[in-house]
Amino acid sequence: MPGVGETVVLDRAAFGALLQALIADGRELVGPTVRDGAIVLDTLRGIDELPRGIGDEQGPGRYRLRERGDEALFGYAASPHSWKRELLPPRVALVQIRRTGRGLAFEGGAAPLRKVAFIGARACELAAIAIQDRVLRDGAHPDPDYRARRDDVFVLAVHCGSPAGTCFCVSMGTGPRARAGYDLAATELLGGDSGHRFVVEVGTVAGGAILARVASRAATPEDTAASAAVTDDAASRMGRKMQNEGIRDALMANLEHPRWQAVADRCLGCANCTMSCPTCFCTSIEDTTDLSGDHATRARRWDSCFTADFAYVHGGSVRPSLRARYRQWLTHKLATWHDQFGTSGCVGCGRCITWCPVGIDITEEVAAIRTPPDGLPGSPPGSLPRSTNG
Ligand code: SF4
Ligand code: SF4
Repeated sequence: MPGVGETVVLDRAAFGALLQALIADGRELVGPTVRDGAIVLDTLRGIDELPRGIGDEQGPGRYRLRERGDEALFGYAASPHSWKRELLPPRVALVQIRRTGRGLAFEGGAAPLRKVAFIGARACELAAIAIQDRVLRDGAHPDPDYRARRDDVFVLAVHCGSPAGTCFCVSMGTGPRARAGYDLAATELLGGDSGHRFVVEVGTVAGGAILARVASRAATPEDTAASAAVTDDAASRMGRKMQNEGIRDALMANLEHPRWQAVADRCLGCANCTMSCPTCFCTSIEDTTDLSGDHATRARRWDSCFTADFAYVHGGSVRPSLRARYRQWLTHKLATWHDQFGTSGCVGCGRCITWCPVGIDITEEVAAIRTPPDGLPGSPPGSLPRSTNG
């Protein structure tokens, strides 16, 4: 059995067999597939449902699939879906209430007992999962539904060789090579004398055990060099760059920068950026009843700091303007997240740029806000505010 830290090589047929071994192990495969003109995450029955030969083109407010002209199965960048949908679903029933002859009956919404394997998770995605783990699983108040879904997830990561025009994981230190958070991590290699193959690193004992069920050979120095070359090349082709050094203080020193109003003038408040972001975790609770009045559901659903209702407290919203809401989102993501959780809240996946209907680009906004306008002094050192309301 390949041990933790070992690297082996699988040909394409063996990679397909690896997916079948995971299914035989009782796991539901969730991975990339083509649907509705996009690469989305869905349940897979095997290798044939992966997006063979399909890549993508992404830019601010733009996403297109394209034929790659090769046989790549993982030749695309971040998809509109992230793994957040699996671990923190858009809507979760928390309790069902039913009227009975003698009163009310309550049923708790239990998380499904699924054994899941995530197929093809990128390094930035694993970094995003680690961020949500810190908030929703490992913090002072763990979320039982998240923890139940997160337990026993098998991760077959695929190192990224196809960054999009909106990617900046290198700036955020999260990719394109996965360093942790996987059971197996594969590099897809196309062509050459050795043909279509996968160089697979073993991250856990569980990963080695499943790998032992399929045909593989030990990786040669040439294989590992070819694997490193894929991610080195991807790192050199990042579509965007974020000025991340000292970003917390730079943003908090510029809370009155005129750029906040300029971006608010373009922003529609649609919340697409937060829905597509793999780390945003804001939710609201809603109660609904059916028309008979005999059944009610209390559910948790995704919400967003871009909606007016989200910041509503008794008497009104604490962030009534789009300027305040955009500033809250960006400064939380890149500045006060450090205070709360010790890391950035951004992994550089670029989704908020691609899926913004008006093409607002977080890297461009940060660059503009980091440049103080003439005649507007920054806050003196030591007096940086901790709140961005208003
Ligand atoms: S803020 Fe944008 S680039 Fe950063 S993790 Fe969220 S969606 Fe990705
Ligand atoms: S996706 Fe764009 S327009 Fe929509 S709320 Fe986010 S920044 Fe504003």
